[in-house]
Amino acid sequence: WAKADGRGRSALFDAGRNADDVARYALSAALPAGLRNDEFVLAYQPLVDLRTGAMVGVEALARWRHPARGELGPHEFIGLAEDSGLIGTLGLQVLEKACRQALRWESAGSAPPFVSVNLAVQQIRDPALVGRIAAVLDRVGLPAGRLQLEITESAVMSIDDHTLGTLRALRGLGVRLVIDDFGTGYANLSYLCDLPVHGLKLAAQFLRDLDGRQASRRAALLEAMVSVGHRFGLAVTAEGVETRSQADLLRGLGCDLAQGWLFGRPIPPGEVRF
Ligand code: C2E
Ligand code: MG
Ligand code: MG
Ligand code: MG
Repeated sequence: WAKADGRGRSALFDAGRNADDVARYALSAALPAGLRNDEFVLAYQPLVDLRTGAMVGVEALARWRHPARGELGPHEFIGLAEDSGLIGTLGLQVLEKACRQALRWESAGSAPPFVSVNLAVQQIRDPALVGRIAAVLDRVGLPAGRLQLEITESAVMSIDDHTLGTLRALRGLGVRLVIDDFGTGYANLSYLCDLPVHGLKLAAQFLRDLDGRQASRRAALLEAMVSVGHRFGLAVTAEGVETRSQADLLRGLGCDLAQGWLFGRPIPPGEVRF
């Protein structure tokens, strides 16, 4: 349909499409080949213990080395992969790469205690997910305790029995589970009573404006978020920590782990130092 004849073009624009949509369409069409050709790579960002400063883990973040467009971030392709039904395939590639990398670091001398991998909503809904993850761990030979899975809050917004069963089974494998972007998805927090997770990752937005006009309210909100996590026996990670003063405040509140540019940006696996 992209043929540049007059009629094709007008149909394109009559439909309300614009250059962005055309680019999205092209990227979406390139996804299957990208997956086949192993164009997806992972960057790793440290997770740091706020008390000791030690790196306790790394989060694997997907990047697409697109042959024509260069390196693309997840905001440019995760949604497309979800819409085209390829997120399961991409997610498993990411999982396997991250698990293999954890062992590669180990044989090179030192490795992070765990590697953290993001799961998309559709993956959680997949009845075969637990089996697939177990198979990857088995094939790679990584102990389940060294894998953490991040589930966005929006994925557990409506917890049905199926989702709960999946999370329980994952926990049963020995995998660590955390809720990602906590505080952004859903106002009804009662789901916390049901979910078998080990931790929460506070969305970066809770660190905004901590020295602005509403500083004391912002700090009160942050304190409340940390204490919700702790009251449920969960480890609390703060995301998007960029400044020393944010880290100091979080440490004072008893927040457990932190992740952000202050401690390190996402980088290629060969550059990670433990
Ligand atoms: P996320 O899981 O919440 O990951 C944290 C995002 O915040 C990453 O963006 C990271 O680069 C960014 N970040 C970390 N520290 C800072 C900081 O101090 N300041 C700022 N401004 N940003 C910081 P990235 O890599 O662009 O990933 C965006 C999102 O894409 C991720 O958010 C995650 O939801 C999703 N994503 C990434 N990789 C995967 C994947 O393999 N599978 C799935 N399903 N989603 C993924
Ligand atoms: Mg981003
Ligand atoms: Mg994450
Ligand atoms: Mg997050």
